[in-house]
Amino acid sequence: MKKVHEINRVTPGVLLSVIEEFDAGKNTYVDEGDVRSSVIGGSAIDFSDRILNVEQKNPPMIPKIGDVVVGYIDMLFGNMISVRILYINEKFSKSGFSAIASTRISNASSNYNSNWRDRSYKGKYIFKVGDIIRGKVYSLLNSSIHLTLDEKDLGVVYTICFSCGHEFTKVPGGLKCNFCGNFEERKVSTDFGKESFTALYDKQFLKL
Ligand SMILES: [Zn+2]
Repeated sequence: MKKVHEINRVTPGVLLSVIEEFDAGKNTYVDEGDVRSSVIGGSAIDFSDRILNVEQKNPPMIPKIGDVVVGYIDMLFGNMISVRILYINEKFSKSGFSAIASTRISNASSNYNSNWRDRSYKGKYIFKVGDIIRGKVYSLLNSSIHLTLDEKDLGVVYTICFSCGHEFTKVPGGLKCNFCGNFEERKVSTDFGKESFTALYDKQFLKL
């Protein structure tokens, strides 16, 4: 049976012990012979093997392959977009993860044929900074979160007219402003304009 002694809540950098007494275990590091915590959590000493571990408190939800995320576009670069993640599988995420997605239309996808494809320019999806989009994680290569937007329920879920700031309505090939009639080409999700996403659009400017 393991004999474990639990210590109080610790914060990153806090001195836990010295290396002569205990080995540095999970979520700890050694600095000039001192064993310190690298995370916020609760520390525990296992006396049977003299290892000092820290259990991390509320580790961040890390997106996995197949997860559906919702976030806003914070950058466009070349054929890529950068997406600041706000929801992972419909759970709000404070972790501030960013994901990337290609704006090139994948040849592999043949399950989605509608008007926007015929009208899209040079085989690229069109997006703008501030668009709230839904994507699905398909790769975590090179420590980046890669999203695909190539399904019916993926793409823009909410945005407002860039000319006048009023609401858009989904039309074939993109979005049309209810107020000024401005048309914007977009890859739009099937459930564009749901109430919850209206609230989300406002949130991004509050830096949540
Ligand atoms: Zn407008």
